[in-house]
Amino acid sequence: MDRSIQTQACAPLVDTLGRQITYLRLSVTDRCDLRCTYCMKARPRFLPKADILTHEELTQLCDAFIRRGVSKIRITGGEPLVRRDIMQLVDNLSCRLGMSSLQEICLTTNATQLPRYADKLVRAGVRRINVSLDTLDERTFARLTRRGDLATTLRGIDAADRAGLKIKINAVALKGDNEHHLPDLIAWAHGRGFDISLIEIMPMGEVDAKRTDQFLSLSTVRERLGEHYTLVETAERTGGPSRYVRLAETGGRVGFITPMSENFCGDCNRVRLTCTGQLYMCLGGAGKVDLRQALREGGREAVDAQLDEAMAFKPEAHAFDLSARPGTAISRSMAHTGG
Ligand code: SAM
Ligand code: SF4
Repeated sequence: MDRSIQTQACAPLVDTLGRQITYLRLSVTDRCDLRCTYCMKARPRFLPKADILTHEELTQLCDAFIRRGVSKIRITGGEPLVRRDIMQLVDNLSCRLGMSSLQEICLTTNATQLPRYADKLVRAGVRRINVSLDTLDERTFARLTRRGDLATTLRGIDAADRAGLKIKINAVALKGDNEHHLPDLIAWAHGRGFDISLIEIMPMGEVDAKRTDQFLSLSTVRERLGEHYTLVETAERTGGPSRYVRLAETGGRVGFITPMSENFCGDCNRVRLTCTGQLYMCLGGAGKVDLRQALREGGREAVDAQLDEAMAFKPEAHAFDLSARPGTAISRSMAHTGG
């Protein structure tokens, strides 16, 4: 375990619009044990292993962000828990908690590996996880994930719950697929004491379907939810892009993440580091710097210089185009970039 903490504070990362970057989303692998229809093709071409950062490199890059004031790191992927050395990275970061600007390590996962990892994550100081679950209907779940089975995912969620992790469910809203299952999913989540966020699909990476056939606006979902529940507006935020309502009937929260229909960029504090060390200043933008090359060829000072340069790339707002022709849409997948 890399316990050497090189995180003496330096100048914070502030973009040209004055937004301070305090939240790093880190994709640790593009690989996954599922093949969700909206995320990847049935037969994806994964990146060569040599292109993927080692856990030592990931730790060094995290340190660079921590020195510049990042307080929250979300580990994601691909499926972060299929990476064999994942706990080495989590344990390294765990040593930085409270000893630096780092206040929180969290994780986004499909839950399949949680029976094996939930207790270890808690011991490493992880308190909150996001779990992706789009439907409670077994057949729809199997079709959407292509190789998942609902019981395995639910066992993972149970293990995380038993271990004491606070769970938020993320569900992508898909036209004609899970749209009619969302009220039941919300009721189940609230019954278990979980928040749930609904997500609009984004045109990232290659999939086998047309994005316009998959996309469902959350304004439509929200209208329909109003037929089942009383939606009470709330200004509550959890540090991400979700805008929440509370349901009077369940007392629970539903978040809406609306990258396509409503822009939430004004107070964005996030950047994304891909599993190959490319730093994207915006999920929906092409502006990036290559931190892997900086780290491998120039070391710590070169990484710092690239971080400063990257601040100029953060766009005011993202711009996704659902009808973009293949080859013109954002070609990197969510699994590569980190959702
Ligand atoms: N494998 C983990 C999981 O599924 O939670 C972490 C990575 S996954 C890429 C992170 C999140 O991105 C998931 O909630 C998933 O539903 C979402 N996602 C994947 N592709 C998406 C897309 N094209 N548009 C919107 N959300 C997407
Ligand atoms: Fe895997 Fe997550 Fe993508 Fe589904 S959404 S294929 S679980 S990375």
